[in-house]
Amino acid sequence: MATDKIINKKSLEFLEKYLNNPSPTGYEWEGQKIWMDYLKPYVDEFITDTYGTAVAVINPKAKYKVVIEGHSDEISWYVNYITDNGLIYVIRNGGSDHQIAPSKWVDIHTKKGIVKGVFGWPAIHTRDKGKEEPPKLENIFIDIGAKDKKEVEKMGVHVGCVITYPDQFHILNKDKFVCRALDNRMGGFMIAEVARLLHENKKKLPFGLYVTNSVQEEIGLRGAEMITQTIKPNVAIVTDVTHDTTTPMIDKKKEGDASIGSGPVVSYAPAVQNKLRERIIETAEAKKIPFQRLASSRYTGTDTDAFAYSNGGVASALISLPLRYMHTTVEMVHKKDVENVIRLIYESLLSIKEGETFSYFD
Ligand SMILES: [Zn+2]
Repeated sequence: MATDKIINKKSLEFLEKYLNNPSPTGYEWEGQKIWMDYLKPYVDEFITDTYGTAVAVINPKAKYKVVIEGHSDEISWYVNYITDNGLIYVIRNGGSDHQIAPSKWVDIHTKKGIVKGVFGWPAIHTRDKGKEEPPKLENIFIDIGAKDKKEVEKMGVHVGCVITYPDQFHILNKDKFVCRALDNRMGGFMIAEVARLLHENKKKLPFGLYVTNSVQEEIGLRGAEMITQTIKPNVAIVTDVTHDTTTPMIDKKKEGDASIGSGPVVSYAPAVQNKLRERIIETAEAKKIPFQRLASSRYTGTDTDAFAYSNGGVASALISLPLRYMHTTVEMVHKKDVENVIRLIYESLLSIKEGETFSYFD
């Protein structure tokens, strides 16, 4: 399968629609509907759960079950406190970055629809040059143009409303995708493309494939923790984003060495089952798919951990997409890497046989 034939016009349209729709942690269902709509022609049925995780299933009757997984939620903020003069203080919903907030537009989600706002910031002229205050959770605030608290409330904004950034999808220099929430809308996109390609290439799998788009990863892998109990899979291949470490102020000795354009990143960590990971690496080598390696001490920090440590232990592995500027509104990935992650998941799936245990003792 040639890499340059993977992402077509229709898949790019889906990606744009899926990305431009906000899907904050806890409120993922509109995005899940877009995702399921795209997948419908390629799968047999869907499972959804109480908190909004969506699973597209191929061969639902099969006993042996393989999961490919990404997460559907994006980081956001909550309205936490409204001052008497109508300014809004926030808390995090996921790992939102206080440093990038000042001067950003925001969308506040209310029952009456979106209320626009801005993160204000004191002018350079009025700041004490001797001791510049960096943006912190305690000093960033949103202005929605209201004169006081009463007016804020009249506009439909109250404590607990969720706030997202409105930044939309762009392509830079033909092959770099830029948007907020590429973490991990790209994961949902890539696993959907795997399902599409299996269907279009008329591949028959000897097992049940559970294409899983989990909710609530950003606040601690919660959606994956729930759905793995429902599916009870034998194998889980997870995909998420990981840091490109080639831009300024990142220490490779600490963060490892990965770059966009150099291929999928395969993880080494206790949660990663060694035989499954070796299968993925052998597949990459056999199919000439470039890849990079990353080591994680203790946790991968991705849904891989949730699948691995469930149901008495599920053989799990992590294939990551290198990304620049994580948790900013200008996250950036390389189209070639996106296509190679799709290829690597696709080819790895085709190598898995029904009933394989990946046991170290066989
Ligand atoms: Zn994230």
